[in-house]
Amino acid sequence: MSQKKSLFSDAQSRMADIFDRLDVHCDVRRQLEQPKCIHQAAIPVRMDDGSLRVFPGWRVQYDQSRGPGKGGVRFHPNVDADEVTALSFWMVLKCALVNLPFGGAKGGVQVDPKLLSRMELERLSRGYIRAFYDVIGPDRDIPAPDVNTNEIVMGWMVDEYSEITREKVPAIITGKPPEMGGSAGRTAATGRGALLVLETWARRKGKRPEDTTIAVQGFGNAGYYFALLAHEAGYRIVALSDSKGAIHTNKALDPEPIWRHKNETRELKGMVYCESSVCTESDVGQISQEALLALDVDVLVLAALENAITTDNVGQVRAGAILEIANGPVSREADKTLAKRGIAVLPDVLVNAGGVTVSYFEWVQGRTGEYWDKATVDEKLESRMLPTACACFDRADRDATTVREAAYAIAVERIAKAIESRGDSCYFKQ
Ligand code: NAD
Repeated sequence: MSQKKSLFSDAQSRMADIFDRLDVHCDVRRQLEQPKCIHQAAIPVRMDDGSLRVFPGWRVQYDQSRGPGKGGVRFHPNVDADEVTALSFWMVLKCALVNLPFGGAKGGVQVDPKLLSRMELERLSRGYIRAFYDVIGPDRDIPAPDVNTNEIVMGWMVDEYSEITREKVPAIITGKPPEMGGSAGRTAATGRGALLVLETWARRKGKRPEDTTIAVQGFGNAGYYFALLAHEAGYRIVALSDSKGAIHTNKALDPEPIWRHKNETRELKGMVYCESSVCTESDVGQISQEALLALDVDVLVLAALENAITTDNVGQVRAGAILEIANGPVSREADKTLAKRGIAVLPDVLVNAGGVTVSYFEWVQGRTGEYWDKATVDEKLESRMLPTACACFDRADRDATTVREAAYAIAVERIAKAIESRGDSCYFKQ
């Protein structure tokens, strides 16, 4: 484990708070206290200059009570076993919350992909599948994209799996290119799902899109599609940031040309990795990334990485509400402070569930061989996200809790039923 603050400990403590209030069997608590399996591998990659580098990689399968593991693969220099474990734990809750027949898993490689050539990146992606081939599978554990991995990377991974098995197995990975069995609507699904949650919340609060200002931290895949769709729905996107900087306007930003500009200046053509920053846009003012988090906006969207808001900066937050598209962007202690200040936090396990929901649709399509058009996928996504969001908001009102506590409660009760169905201590005592 690294020296950084343990993300998994933070997630566990938060879970313990929630378990204390829930009436579920103690077996469930015990089972969810630690991951079922942490697989670690050294992934060798032949570099373009002929040298060999070995990258540490992980696949964590946290719980599979409700079905095969499901979760993305992250390429990032800060990835470690602790982070992947926390992310796999949140996948368990998320899949249960949206009622998908999946458990939770996650993968990661400790690497800075921006320093790799395209060929090196492909070798690493294929190496990841070779390393974890034995523990994944369409009925065991299904990877998907996450930070710094995209549909091109998923294409290499699914191809590597097919090379090993000598079969076409489209349901092994989701988030693939459509030409390889990927689902229509998958790329925008996380952003679309997040907007559906925001709209449901805004309607209940009587907020109109044109009067609602939004700042987005993390102008990547999820953040871009959210910003684009929110802009199209009439919301005012007033600030955007990425890993290099941030821009702000008093009017409204149009995310599409900013995204296009960002992608046109990237180094790896056709890839998501960007060398340029949104700050190169000149028609709007530049601010620091920290200043974006402190803007006086109606909604602050966190779509970058975990721990964006901690005890260090929570006092500076002036937004009316926070929409968590990233996983774990608000620490447990900061969450408590926000709750005391009456700043609503719409939690990650609900807000970003659109991605795994359409991944589930992709898995179903891969297994049946019947493929749906984008309108069908978007409609199916809406019919999952809207009732889930309403259930979380209703439960929070009923129990006088935060929306996160309500979402966790719904998810844990579902997981508990699955665990209990397999036989618990009460069953054996009968
Ligand atoms: P991505 O790599 O495409 O985008 C991440 C963005 O965050 C990049 O633009 C990066 O420059 C920016 N960023 C990094 N550090 C930053 C900082 N300090 N300040 C501002 N911006 C910063 O990744 P993504 O797929 O969009 O995922 C973003 C988050 O959403 C992650 O937490 C991921 O786990 C979560 N998520 C994504 C999906 C999905 O389908 N893409 C699904 C569920 C959850």
